[in-house]
Amino acid sequence: MHLKGIEEELHRDLSEVKSLSDLQQVKAKYLGKKGLITQAVAGIKDLPPEERREYGSRVNRLKEYAEQLINQKEEELNREDIQRQLSQEWLDLSIPLEPLQGTHHPITQTLRRIKNIFVSMGFSIMEGPEVELEEYNFDMLNIPKDHPARDMQDTFYVNKKGYLLRTHTSPVQIRTMLSYKPPIYMVAPGRVYRRDDDPTHSPMFHQVEGLVVDTEVGFGHMKYTIETFLKEFFEVDVPVRFRASYFPFTEPSAEVDIGCVICRGEGCRVCKQTGWLEVMGCGMVHPVVLENCGIDPEFYRGFAFGMGVERLAMLYFGIDNIKLFFENHMRFLRQF
Ligand SMILES: [Zn+2]
Repeated sequence: MHLKGIEEELHRDLSEVKSLSDLQQVKAKYLGKKGLITQAVAGIKDLPPEERREYGSRVNRLKEYAEQLINQKEEELNREDIQRQLSQEWLDLSIPLEPLQGTHHPITQTLRRIKNIFVSMGFSIMEGPEVELEEYNFDMLNIPKDHPARDMQDTFYVNKKGYLLRTHTSPVQIRTMLSYKPPIYMVAPGRVYRRDDDPTHSPMFHQVEGLVVDTEVGFGHMKYTIETFLKEFFEVDVPVRFRASYFPFTEPSAEVDIGCVICRGEGCRVCKQTGWLEVMGCGMVHPVVLENCGIDPEFYRGFAFGMGVERLAMLYFGIDNIKLFFENHMRFLRQF
């Protein structure tokens, strides 16, 4: 083919190239092993000597020109490709996000509500370690060495002798009495651990305990504090009753019941047909406990109370299985 014809055809072919693979085909057509220009170069040697020189230099110029055009086209296509990617992957960081639909876990919500009620009554929030001294968890609370709560069946002991996972938040009361002088008005919220595992018990759960130590403190103050709290918490004027009970660290001691918030006292599965629900324990701090903490029981008196947060949350939200709080299924959690 005439060189001029090859050049024109090359221009035409290149103008129709849309992609790198199109370009590969054009490159093969002209510069490949059997390409038009390659063949023209091969044909030089067959020409008579007087024509070779002139034709040879024209063929070589065409070859260089074709290579140059193809390279330019390749660069152009690469640039376009990058532009296309940039425009497709462009991200507008100024577009506002859909509002996040997160909520606090029902236990967190319940803990906060409990804390807020006590803070509004003038109590301070105190915290302590979850790996606790056996001495603070049992001994100083007047819990005898042979008390069943100390049993390996009920308590998680850790490898280090004298330490355990606290079984209640009461050691925070001890720590507070050892560090602060009365008057003390405190609540201790936190995680506690017991070897319990059934639909209403979990090996880890949350407690809130309260402690008041002051000069003029009696059972009536305790009763008033607890009744006020329970009415605030359940947002209704629930009936409250105190039943005599026994704890080593309080004397006298009582269990606190409220009228069943599920059946309003009619009797149901949750209250086991009694119309009452046990919600906390309480009592006047045993003088031995005050003494253990360097507080003179002749001068000061105290009351203490403790409640399970999961228990209160189950009653408040009407949930019958404690495990639901810890499985973290979104369908469950989204309801709160
Ligand atoms: Zn009931």
